[in-house]
Order: sequence, then structure tokens, then C-alpha cells
Amino acid sequence: MKADFGIRCSGAEPVIYELSKPGRMATTLPQLDVPQAALPDAALLRDDVDLPEVSELDLMRHYVRMSQLNWAVDIGFYPLGSCTMKYNPKVNEAAARLPGFARTHPYQDVHAVQGNLRLMHELQEMLKEVAGFAGVSLQPSAGAHGELTGVLIMRAYHVARGDMQRTRIIVPDSAHGTNPATTNMAGLEVVEVPSDARGNVDLAALESVCGETVCGLMLTNPNTLGLFEEQLPAVMELIHGCGGLVYGDGANFNALMGIAKPGELGFDVMHFNLHKTFSTPHGGGGPGAGPVGVAELLVPFLPGPVVALCRCEEAGCDCQEEEGVHYHLVMPEQSIGRVRSFYGNFGVLVRAYTYMRALGAEGLREVSEMAVLNANYLKTRLAGVLPVSHQRTHMHEFVVKGIYPSAPDVHALDISKRLIDYGFHPPTNYFPLIVPEALMIEPTETESKETLDAFAAALRAIGEEARDDPELLHEAPHTAPVRRLDEVRAAREPILRWQGG
Ligand SMILES: *Cc1c(COP(=O)(O)O)cnc(C)c1O
Repeated sequence: MKADFGIRCSGAEPVIYELSKPGRMATTLPQLDVPQAALPDAALLRDDVDLPEVSELDLMRHYVRMSQLNWAVDIGFYPLGSCTMKYNPKVNEAAARLPGFARTHPYQDVHAVQGNLRLMHELQEMLKEVAGFAGVSLQPSAGAHGELTGVLIMRAYHVARGDMQRTRIIVPDSAHGTNPATTNMAGLEVVEVPSDARGNVDLAALESVCGETVCGLMLTNPNTLGLFEEQLPAVMELIHGCGGLVYGDGANFNALMGIAKPGELGFDVMHFNLHKTFSTPHGGGGPGAGPVGVAELLVPFLPGPVVALCRCEEAGCDCQEEEGVHYHLVMPEQSIGRVRSFYGNFGVLVRAYTYMRALGAEGLREVSEMAVLNANYLKTRLAGVLPVSHQRTHMHEFVVKGIYPSAPDVHALDISKRLIDYGFHPPTNYFPLIVPEALMIEPTETESKETLDAFAAALRAIGEEARDDPELLHEAPHTAPVRRLDEVRAAREPILRWQGG
């Protein structure tokens, strides 16, 4: 039996291991203490499953080696703009693995899972408090999923009032691609508005598209340039004035915690990215959670079930009276329905809850203050190295143009790939779309001054290389396990196993 169980190691000469040897095993099963059962009918058995035969040590080394081929926030700096790749405290993992959380089954009766429901309820309450909303649903599984949920809520609100003509969603040109994608998925029409010279939404353009067919505006604040919307009250007045609602893309909430509440700033609905702001590990597509918070007028439309705390001795409580059951799963009155199976991504909810409880209100404020300070410090260190997109005080991230004046042939992608050789994960490339050669940098609050200094020094050194030896950059990375990849093809047609020689 021949199995594909090879690995290509880093270095100039690829080393290929074929680890499988007939008869080797990585498990030791105990002696049978029951009669041996007969095998099923031969027609049901397969002999074409080419499983590798390896020892436990081979197996261990294979997976540990593979894990070392990946970059991770636990290995080094990961300044991916907009994605908030902060350190994920390991106490979150310990909490998520507690058997009472990890081993519950979604079909268990509410009696048996009161602790889990309490955690969900307290998380709902904390998210309401920190963002200034009247209601929260924990159902959505990601930011983009929260966006779709939020837009469906806005549409349901208009439809419930008999206002059927509101089919357009306004999206600024600095928005994340998920905003227009969400609008399309919800069956609504995208109306793009430009940004002005200071990076704010262009008010005149906004005014010209505002009207009675507008369902709402999707606004990211601070926006993806890392800039706080300076004319927010005017934007709110305009949209609300023409009968629309304002959706907040909460992916950048890391800049605001404990400082400003989106609900009080006038946002009607917002998604949280628990996997960004509230420190649960993400990357490579998941897992995540994108709870949605809403203002009073939208509470009845939230997707359910949501968790309600109901003490039956309290007046007005309409839940079933039952000994020891205080937390109930309820469906909001005019709910848009379920947007996910069961109760959301529960393990992610436990991690976010643990993070919030460990830091407390003061701690969350300090997170945002440090995130903003770190971004502005790093931006200042890069002065004279790469030009920043806007000369303003930034929030938790900033965008530079990835072009060294002395080396016009070197592009943002070359700089990013060369950073890998210096031991740094590249920033976000070519986004937001309105900045040419964009490099979007979000250092996060968890990085030290030394790390930020080293990153700035690397970008300065790469600038010198760009001038003296641009080919070095065009061919980077030189030290990574793989060189330049066709990233689109790698995502669309992934090759997940060893293909031989
Ligand atoms: C990450 C992000 C999203 C989408 O969130 P996911 O959880 O990745 O689906 C939306 N908007 C902005 C600004 C983001 O950074």
C-alpha cells in the first residue's frame, strides 16, 4: 500500500519525505474484551483507501512541521488592516474547552443548559452596553453574515410600515467589499457615493442620492482608511431625514470601545466581529461570530432565538413559570427568522465573553486607547518612508501608498512579499480601493513598542533595497516555504495533498 504522505520543506532544494512504510502504526489499541464482530458484507468494504502507515512519532513530527509552515499571530506581528489580528489570550481557549460548554448538545432541554444560556444573555447585555443598543442577537456567524442580517432587518422594518419602495442601499466607495455584496444578496440595489478629500463621505453626493427609495446607508466608522467620520451628525440627519436607516459596519469597533457608543451616535443597527474586536482566533475563513445590535425600533425584527432573562415573580413576565429556569429562548415578535442553525457559533461566544469579563469596562476602553495610540505611533515612525493616504489623526489603523519615491517599479505587492523575509506578515494589500497601491496597517493594541519599531525599520530597509536592487523585491519572498503564489487559483482550486515529485 502506497500513501501520499510527503512534505516539502523550506530551503533551496526541496526535501521530499515519503513517510509511509507497510505495517507501521500510530495507535495501540487495547485487547478486545468483547467477542469479535463479523465484518460487514464484502460489497460494503473498500480496499482502495490508501491510508498512510506511520509511527506515532512520524505522525507527530509531520503535523508539527506542517504547523510551522504557517504564519500565525502567536509567532509574530500580523498587521493586517481591517482584520484586527490581535493576540488571543489563551484563557479564552481554556474557558471554551470547559466540558460544560464544549460538551453540551444543541438539542438539550433549556433546563439542562441554563449556564450556557446565562453566558449568552450576559454577552448580549455586555454588547448592548458597550455599543449603546437596545437589543442584540448572537445568531450570525461572521461579519458579512451580520451585515446580511442587518440589511434584512432594515428591509423588514420598512416593509412592516407598508413602505415598499425603499430598495436602495447607499455604500461609500471606501467600504469593505462585503457591504455591496450583502446589499446584492438581500435583493437590494447598491448606490455608491464617493469620499471627499479628507476621507469623509462626500456630503453633497450623499444628499443627491438621498430620497424615498433609500432603505439605508451602510457606514463604517472609523472607515477603512482608519479615519473617524467628521460629519457624522450631518450624515445621520440626512439619511434619517429622508426616511432611511443607518447601518454600522462594526468591524472597526476596536477603535471605539468605552469611548463612543454607535447606538448613541445614531446608528440603527450594527454588527460586531467578535473574532476581531473581542479576540477570538480567526483566519483562513473562520470560525467567527457576527452578532447584530439594534436600536429600540428594530428590536422586534431581530433574528432568533435570543435569550431572555425572565424571573417569573416579576410583573409582566409572560414566560412559563418553572422551577430554576430563568433563561429562555424567545423569538422576537416580527423576527426576520433564523439566520443560522441552533444558537450561533457558541464556542466563539464563550471566548468573547471571557475576553470581555477578563478586561472589564475599563480594560476595554484601554484596549481601544492603546490600539489608536499604536497606530498613530507607527504611522509617525513611517513618516518619510511611505506616504500616508490622509494627513489626519488616525484611529486604530492607517493606509499608506506602497510606493517608494526612489523606486517607482516596486509595487505594494513586492513590499508585502519582502516583509515576509523580514519575519512580518504583510499588511492588507490593495484595499481600500480608493488609495492607489494601498497598504493598510493595523498594529493592534497588543504589540510592543519594540515590535512597532522593528516593523518600521524593516520598511525603511526595504525602501533602500528597492532603490538599489529592485529585482530582490520583485522575486520576494526568498525564505518562505513557498514563493509567489497564484493566490486566486490557490483559493479556487486548492491542492490539499502531496502530488508526488
Ligand atoms: C472583516 C470585515 C468585514 C467582514 O467580516 P467577516 O467576519 O470577515 O465576514 C466587513 N467589513 C469590514 C470593514 C471588515 O474589516
